[in-house]
Amino acid sequence: MLEYCLNCDYENEIKPDRAAVTVTVRGEYFEVTEEFYKCPVCGEKFTSSLGHDALDEAYREYRRRHDMLQPEEIRHWRSHYGLTQIELSRLLDWEAATLSSYENGALQEKSEDTLLKFIMAPQNLLNLITSKPHILNVEKQNQLLAQLSANKTVAKHVEQLYTIYSPPNKLGEHSEENKQNISYEPFVQNGIPVFANTSVPVKTLIDYFKGGKSVNNFLDATVSREQVMAFLSELEKQIIKPAM
Ligand SMILES: [Zn+2]
Repeated sequence: MLEYCLNCDYENEIKPDRAAVTVTVRGEYFEVTEEFYKCPVCGEKFTSSLGHDALDEAYREYRRRHDMLQPEEIRHWRSHYGLTQIELSRLLDWEAATLSSYENGALQEKSEDTLLKFIMAPQNLLNLITSKPHILNVEKQNQLLAQLSANKTVAKHVEQLYTIYSPPNKLGEHSEENKQNISYEPFVQNGIPVFANTSVPVKTLIDYFKGGKSVNNFLDATVSREQVMAFLSELEKQIIKPAM
């Protein structure tokens, strides 16, 4: 909201208006919303950095189109491992300003996006940290290596259980408890295992773990924490007492 016109003597509140505009990003067109102020007296148009950012909207859409990471995904992933922007930049051989600008909405190059996704896999981050032992302090390095190894183990175990559960005709061999949590619906996601009463494949949870994400990242409106925990408990039973 503007308090006065920046062009004439009009001194009154000017409310923002919105209009559809076409923005070009790397040669592609995006229909986005532009927010602006129009003085009722002189007709002068202003934009404000406080309002809706049309370019930001276009960048977000560009990233969706090209399956690229959004700024908050980069930031959340980095924070998840307790890495500072400087530490992660040094691990990547990037200027600290580069990472900072991506986390704040600048549009990354495809090659940089590919590199980020690559090191988001716990095994790759683990290798990177191991190959550059002088960047993190010893305490942080040890804690991260432990965290990354644990993720790797969980991902391996979940994958193993997924393999056990995959053939629908084997469902009957597993516990009643877990049947309630994973269902096989022939017409849901082509009959692949999904969490009961949802269309969320069990494989998605595995992919989250493989990507270094946590249960909290995975939970959404459709799959409950109880379903995930019941599934992981069942997994634990299968891995620890495979003969039962
Ligand atoms: Zn004016």
